[in-house]
Amino acid sequence: MTALTDLLAARIAADGPMTLADYMAEALMHPEHGYYSTRDPLGAAGDFITAPEISQMFGELVGLSLAQAWIDQGQPNPFCLAELGPGRGTLMADLLRATAKVPGFHAAAQIHLVEASPTLRAEQAKRVSATWHDDTTTLPDLPLFLIANEFFDALPIRQFQRDGSGWREVQVTVEGNALVSALSPAKPVPELEYRLQDTKDGDIVEICPALLAITSVIASRIDAHGGTALIVDYGDWRSLGDTLQAVQDHAPVNPFAAPGQADITAHVDFEAIALASSPAKYTRLTPQGVFLERLGITQRAQTLAAPLSGDALDTLVAAHRRLTDPAEMGSLFKVIGIYPNGAPPPAGLEP
Ligand code: SAH
Repeated sequence: MTALTDLLAARIAADGPMTLADYMAEALMHPEHGYYSTRDPLGAAGDFITAPEISQMFGELVGLSLAQAWIDQGQPNPFCLAELGPGRGTLMADLLRATAKVPGFHAAAQIHLVEASPTLRAEQAKRVSATWHDDTTTLPDLPLFLIANEFFDALPIRQFQRDGSGWREVQVTVEGNALVSALSPAKPVPELEYRLQDTKDGDIVEICPALLAITSVIASRIDAHGGTALIVDYGDWRSLGDTLQAVQDHAPVNPFAAPGQADITAHVDFEAIALASSPAKYTRLTPQGVFLERLGITQRAQTLAAPLSGDALDTLVAAHRRLTDPAEMGSLFKVIGIYPNGAPPPAGLEP
């Protein structure tokens, strides 16, 4: 039981069951009790670790891919260099260090960070000077070069279970003192019409309303002004099955047990990103390991390894393996790019 459990139980008693999306939004971003609003969850001492926290190589290589895209598109000046959900600001700091010698890149860049958590904004401000935004709609009308790592998985999802030609929505309700999930009666869901062809009774599918809204803002900026977005996350091409997961202290927990205390995420449906990226173009969905290898992670690791020995060398070798090995993050994590018509696909994401 948490303070947030009580608040949500009272709201459900008054208004009826909540959608999973409303529940996730409160659990992650409630101003006083939300998971991200109140803490820095990253790193070995936190609940989970991300690619930029594993190694500087990740942000460096993302930076070089974006800088190459900027060169390929005629070095627009000024341009918006943006990150969604920058965590501790580590990726952006590594990206900026790696691109410092790209002529004109820093001079033309205006750095914009989209971050909802005041706690994490304060962490980011220690490493990067930038303009902060609550959401993507206020990003400047400029060519947009953007990275989002493990951002889309934190966006609230709705879940539906197929029932005949309709769908029962997974909702959050109260049982005794506890929050539990329960199914609504079946109803038609127009957004899921196309899924009637590839699902059967009892199958679960997920939709992420915020993903669609955010992707269309990004894609229309890129279509209008140029730019490139790199979106890195775990997930797959089409949503099927229950992918909701909660993690606390690096271990899985029940997502309804302690809202505000655990990270709650879902796998990203990259097909939904691709569909929302029109009229801009999207790249082939590429495993993270392949993306990083194409950008030269092995050469970079060798350079960094040269002066190292002992534990420091072991840590670097382990980080390289963790980011690229298919048995670790190399194939669960995937990358999709959004880029303008007439430009080449971003480096690392060629067909
Ligand atoms: N990209 C970082 C952090 C990933 S954690 C890394 O790779 O280490 C998810 C990040 O997205 C956090 O910074 C979190 O506060 C932010 N975030 C989650 N949901 C958000 C939302 N709806 N709007 C803005 N930021 C959000």
